[in-house]
Amino acid sequence: MYPREIVHWISGETAGSSSGATFEKRSPIDDAVVAQVVRGSAADVTRAVDAAAAAADAWSRMPAPRRGEIVGRAAAVLRTREREFGEIVQVETGKPWKNAAAEVASSADLGVFMESEGSRFYGKTMTSPIPNRSVRTERAPIGVCAAIMPFNSPLAGIAWKVFPALVCGNAVVAKSHELAPQTAVAFGQLLQDAGLPRGVYSAVQGLGPEVGTALVDDPRVGLVSFTGSVATGKAIQQRVSGRPVLAKVCLELGGKNPLIVCDDADVTLAAEHAVASAFIDAGQRCAAGSRIIVFDRIYDAFRDALLTRAAAVKVGSGPQDECGPVISRASLDRLLGAVDGATRRGARVLAGGHVVDALKPGYYMAPTILEGVPHDDELSQQELFGPITCLYRVADFDAAIQMANATAFGLTGAIHTFNSNRIEQFIARYRAGLVSINGPTYGAGPHMPFGGVKNSGNGFREPGTEALDVYCEWKTVVVNHDPARV
Ligand code: NAD
Repeated sequence: MYPREIVHWISGETAGSSSGATFEKRSPIDDAVVAQVVRGSAADVTRAVDAAAAAADAWSRMPAPRRGEIVGRAAAVLRTREREFGEIVQVETGKPWKNAAAEVASSADLGVFMESEGSRFYGKTMTSPIPNRSVRTERAPIGVCAAIMPFNSPLAGIAWKVFPALVCGNAVVAKSHELAPQTAVAFGQLLQDAGLPRGVYSAVQGLGPEVGTALVDDPRVGLVSFTGSVATGKAIQQRVSGRPVLAKVCLELGGKNPLIVCDDADVTLAAEHAVASAFIDAGQRCAAGSRIIVFDRIYDAFRDALLTRAAAVKVGSGPQDECGPVISRASLDRLLGAVDGATRRGARVLAGGHVVDALKPGYYMAPTILEGVPHDDELSQQELFGPITCLYRVADFDAAIQMANATAFGLTGAIHTFNSNRIEQFIARYRAGLVSINGPTYGAGPHMPFGGVKNSGNGFREPGTEALDVYCEWKTVVVNHDPARV
């Protein structure tokens, strides 16, 4: 049952806000107010960081395999509570049930992977030119980590950050997204049920400029791990630069991901993957395929296949549906405005471009395909985060690669071809954190490092073993065994 009042989770229990203020959480499915959420304050953040700072030392001294066991137990409990967590994700985002259930399963998978990382936790041993000296590296926890969340996959978002952070021996204060507030509280109860000591994980509710900034400013926070928009990511990085003592900043940001369809592609397969890339989670994915770049020679055949497949997409939040609502009315209005602006600048709407009337007052937008949008138009350059994709016609492979690279983003991308030279050229020349061959633009697994280049991120990768590099510092240890003889 989704609670009517959503509060913080601090020191292992639910907690109200010192401000007394609240804000509404509305359902994307029908626009109904489903809960009042406490509007946190800087004082609430201080309470959560106090709890984290008090708990961090003892937690860091628990052996890493034991910490992993607790994370593994949380993953096991999560699997048994698929319905409870799937329902929370569905109420918050409106996504179709199969996608909400898949999010629960993939979050549990990540916990299983991170449990085993606790038993590895490898460092290196190195030689030394000095006799009787040994040198090695160890992973050291950071202390208190802030985890600032996006709304689109609330449970996976938390699992991606919190499971590795805990295995690495850190305490975590999560900042819930204001549009997906309850997941972080339910996650706190789950961790506690799995045996996590009180205070090691807390979650605060509230608005970014109030609660988010207070968390970023707290000098006890040694890492800010942020997933969200480029604008907020850059603001956080600047703010951390202004602190008397710096903190590590991990930014996982947006994408404007291309899917290239070459003239030797399997057009039906490419259309299937283009539709999934553009419209799953209503396009509210950092890895959404928002630019479909097609060779001139097969453009018409591909467009026909794409439109046929897109017309079959089931919009709604039911068990058989594929494309749910967008997160808020403001987002829906922004997306409709973007399409309207593009058409006024000469773009053609091939599909969608409007609200799904039968599902009003839910925030459902029909899967939308545009063509004739110049590549330097804002619609081609800015992340839309909605069910909108554009078709672009290119003469050849070089033009496709050039266009793929011609945005400020570099998160993911896909190519459809069976030509091995084109495949290798794409891998080498398209600048991004993840490339996919004959598949969709998305693709992540617990063992796979994920992240972007350029405005898509600042060089870190989550999850995979590489996530440990976000949540640990490397410490180099030099031991002189017999100093008198050196
Ligand atoms: P957003 O930047 O609006 O908000 C993200 C979080 O930042 C929210 O919790 C918000 O409250 C908080 N925030 C806002 N202002 C803040 C401030 N000044 N200081 C501190 N915190 C602040 O992003 P969003 O719209 O919620 O999320 C969508 C974005 O997330 C898209 O750009 C998407 O591509 C990106 N995303 C990236 C990945 C990835 O792995 N690269 C995954 C999912 C989503």
